[in-house]
Amino acid sequence: MIHLHVELGNRSYPIYIGSQLLSRPDLYAAHIKSKQVLIVTNETVAPLYLDRVRQNLTSYQVETVVLPDGEQYKTLEMLNRVFDALLSARFSRNATLIALGGGVIGDMGGFAAACYQRGIAFLQIPTTLLAQVDSSVGGKTGVNHPLGKNMIGAFYQPQCVLADTDALDTLDDRQLAAGLAEVIKYGLIRDADFFVWLEHNIEALCARDKNTLAYAIERSCRNKAEIVAEDETESGVRATLNLGHTFGHAIETGTGYGAYLHGEAVAIGICQAADLSMRKGWLTGQDVQRIAALLLRAGLPVIPPAGLDAERFLELMAVDKKNLDGRIRLILLEKIGRTTLPVYVDRTLLESTLNGYGR
Ligand code: NAD
Ligand code: MG
Repeated sequence: MIHLHVELGNRSYPIYIGSQLLSRPDLYAAHIKSKQVLIVTNETVAPLYLDRVRQNLTSYQVETVVLPDGEQYKTLEMLNRVFDALLSARFSRNATLIALGGGVIGDMGGFAAACYQRGIAFLQIPTTLLAQVDSSVGGKTGVNHPLGKNMIGAFYQPQCVLADTDALDTLDDRQLAAGLAEVIKYGLIRDADFFVWLEHNIEALCARDKNTLAYAIERSCRNKAEIVAEDETESGVRATLNLGHTFGHAIETGTGYGAYLHGEAVAIGICQAADLSMRKGWLTGQDVQRIAALLLRAGLPVIPPAGLDAERFLELMAVDKKNLDGRIRLILLEKIGRTTLPVYVDRTLLESTLNGYGR
């Protein structure tokens, strides 16, 4: 088992990574402070892993909430179901909430824990690669509002994260690849050696080799944890995690949510950001090809959707919440392994990427 530490003063916590962690009663016991435990999960994950988790909790009063599966259920209404369960079972401020699932459940469970009686303890048990390398680390929790994604939320840190690589066995290939997009992103923004390691190990990751996965998850979480330790609430360096995301969000919105998984849209966005970085004179053409080649080998798309022209891209990118005063700001690459902070980009240059890359 790998044991990582997220350093956030009195909100610090461990991340455990490895095989068979879901069946380690000691790990639960070390982080649950009272007898009352609520497990929040969804109808896809429950039949796969709920019993495995519950088996470790026989000496606790355990309640469960099984929510419907999907981003469209990441809502205040579903959050209320969690509060209903906590209140009906008369759970106190000492209760512990366990979020068992992908990023949707992690974000909602974390936010429910942040709100219930102004904050109860919670454990993250991420079961998708994306959740293990990204959403379970860093304390962003929340739900969507009809007028905007992740618009209602809080920063709230868990007691610990249990990332069990065995849980990834049941994940479908597309979801695995979507997680790999964020893994590759860490190499690009701040860890050139990791990028090279990924070039050597991407096939093993796609084949779900356990040790290779555990290493990639560790290195990803370590990178994210370092960024979050430096900038918990995103006033500076945390923004570099958004490499490829402004393009990606435009693709997600412009093609209708659901056509592309988030990681897939980000993969294309990373390529567009790389192309723009080349036009800035920072990356070489060969760098851009290396980046696209790795994403492609991970099973990800790298070409922007034909139906989305430059004009529509610009419209969609202008409303991204990372912009200030209506001008488009982007994270670009100075080289593989180093990003800029958000920079305003010249519109003509951006148009040349939107019209030029992959067209
Ligand atoms: P998800 O939670 O919707 O999971 C993807 C699908 O996989 C779902 O159908 C889910 O039920 C299923 N699933 C989960 N675990 C499984 C398993 N082990 N085997 C089989 N199927 C399984 O999506 P996601 O990609 O994990 O997370 C996306 C969400 O995370 C978004 O809501 C996004 O906003 C959020 N997010 C948050 C942060 C953050 O910092 N908090 C960062 C990135 C993303
Ligand atoms: Mg992302």
